Amino acid sequence: MPNHNKYQPVIGLEVHAQLLTKSKAFCSCSTEFGNDPNSNVCPVCLGLPGVLPVLNARVVEFVIRMGLATYCTIADRSVFARKNYFYPDLPKGYQISQYDKPICTGGYVEIEAEPGVKKRIGITRIHMEEDAGKSIHDLDVDTLVDVNRCGVPLIEIVSEPDIRSPREAYQYLTMIKQIVTYLGICDGNMEEGSLRCDANISVMVKGAEQFGTKTELKNMNSFRFVEKALEYEINRQIELLERGERVVQETLLWDANEGVAVAMRSKEEAHDYRYFPEPDLVPVLVDEQYIASVRERLPEFPSARRDRYVREFALPKYDADILTEQRELADYFENVVAGLKTKKSGTYKMASNWTMTEVLRVLNDKHIGVAEFAVGPDRLAGMINLIVDGTISGKIAKDVFAEMLTESGSPKAIIEKKGLVQVSDTGAIEKIVDDVLARNAEQVEKYRSGKQQLFGFFVGETMKLMKGKANPNVVNEILRKKLGGV
Ligand SMILES: [Zn+2]
Repeated sequence: MPNHNKYQPVIGLEVHAQLLTKSKAFCSCSTEFGNDPNSNVCPVCLGLPGVLPVLNARVVEFVIRMGLATYCTIADRSVFARKNYFYPDLPKGYQISQYDKPICTGGYVEIEAEPGVKKRIGITRIHMEEDAGKSIHDLDVDTLVDVNRCGVPLIEIVSEPDIRSPREAYQYLTMIKQIVTYLGICDGNMEEGSLRCDANISVMVKGAEQFGTKTELKNMNSFRFVEKALEYEINRQIELLERGERVVQETLLWDANEGVAVAMRSKEEAHDYRYFPEPDLVPVLVDEQYIASVRERLPEFPSARRDRYVREFALPKYDADILTEQRELADYFENVVAGLKTKKSGTYKMASNWTMTEVLRVLNDKHIGVAEFAVGPDRLAGMINLIVDGTISGKIAKDVFAEMLTESGSPKAIIEKKGLVQVSDTGAIEKIVDDVLARNAEQVEKYRSGKQQLFGFFVGETMKLMKGKANPNVVNEILRKKLGGV
């Protein structure tokens, strides 16, 4: 068994994020997913002779959003370049990308490398480019080509080789996903290919000054696979070095079924692509005023939102972390808060508890997002208001919540329909309490002679007889009165 502790992995990630624009990067074709193959195409995205691409302004806005969110320098002048290569799903024979003059450079993303320890992962560059089409190999006919994706806008986010473990790579990707989804520029769905990740990996003996030879790992199409694939490749390289062999610079494809990386081709160098400035597009010029206008419209970032939840709603940091992890969920929580009648820390905490436990539990069980969730924030807020004003107990609320998942009415309507209203009628509760005390004379005796912890027992018995519908405050009050001050 080789001594793995001797080695330090060095990882850099290239992440492609598909932008949520309505039309493609250089033509007006739709970017809609799932349309008939080869239906979202025109002479421009097919690269037919005599056509001219026109840059979609949204693409520039989106990449600047990302650049600002990752503390990059935004170039006032950036240039598109042609990346030439042949592939059946690339009818033009080149991709429009950016090469030596990208729009964003020199930023960083902060990850929590260990609990409580922040680490900055440098961003070398973020540039705009267009996607290629798709070859479909898995039908039992010849390979088919669908060019709908040709020209769909992407940004490529290239990190510095600052990542030191598969775990850090996972955290970096999680942050990138959180940022692009918060910014609303990409849906962040790795499984569906809207976020794609390639990795450059090398290992060196700890303390060495020079990085080892790197390999490029492609095709890791889920967050889970990234960590696994990186671990595999790091081990493979260490074992080669321990045997006295050399790591060959090559591109590997991760095979998730077999759990192995397979050599695809020897790695291309930049000159293999014969990059040159795209002659059909003028340089992209952005001025300070434009950048400022994009900055002004940036949404509040997760970290700022987290701090605000602690400050404004007096929530524990733990709650704030969970609630702000996804923008959708944070928006949901804030809409619940907006619907609360009583605005104070106690009710904010109730809104947080219901969102973190019940709402998240259902979302996870059903594998759905907030948008598909049956209980809108207004209904959840309505239910919390009913707990606060004493109409229902917290226990009944669980039943109301369960009903709301399948019934559409307001919480109030559901409570009435199902007879879930809390009983606060003193007379009715008193009768039950009398009954409980009569039946448990022995415990009453013990309580009166000082065994105060029996109070909970009487509450429990009363609640049981009232099927959980009694107002606990009224029950406590009556019990205290009947049992007498001890
Ligand atoms: Zn087109």
